[in-house]
Amino acid sequence: MKFLISILLLIFVQTCSQNHQPVKTTSMENKAKNNPYYSRTDTTKLDIPNEEWKKILAPDLYAVAREATTERAFTGKYNEFDEVDEYYCAVCGNHLFRSTSKFASRCGWPSFFEADKEGVYYKRDASYGMERVEVLCKRCDSHLGHVFDDGPKPTGLIYCMNSVSLEFVPDPKE
Ligand SMILES: [Zn+2]
Repeated sequence: MKFLISILLLIFVQTCSQNHQPVKTTSMENKAKNNPYYSRTDTTKLDIPNEEWKKILAPDLYAVAREATTERAFTGKYNEFDEVDEYYCAVCGNHLFRSTSKFASRCGWPSFFEADKEGVYYKRDASYGMERVEVLCKRCDSHLGHVFDDGPKPTGLIYCMNSVSLEFVPDPKE
């Protein structure tokens, strides 16, 4: 019995520490391994059908990016994450956000007060009986999240993004 309890305790401790590990992804390795469309330098507009993306993207990324589902609040890897640098589209590598515009909104998703104007565009979203503004990637048309107008200064905006749609890339010099 004692043995069993210590095993359970060990599993519990491991699970907890795993959850609180800082995310050290150097992006491209994971998601973009077999993705020929991913580029952080090429900004050419992509027009790839979903059947093709389905073969390339991880299922959780496909569901959010191409079917506009929303990841569960407080589960995303960038929700509580404050490293300094750049956020790119996890689907295509397009630049979306700077960490300097990220703030702790406590809404359960990574939040920014400003997006890269060249990186995103907007669409009216009246789904689920709500009137919202959807944020999409300008290069690959992937769903990223929504933007609301009750954010902080200086813009008054709050971009609530899905972590899975974002790829954080730390500055190699740091
Ligand atoms: Zn994209």
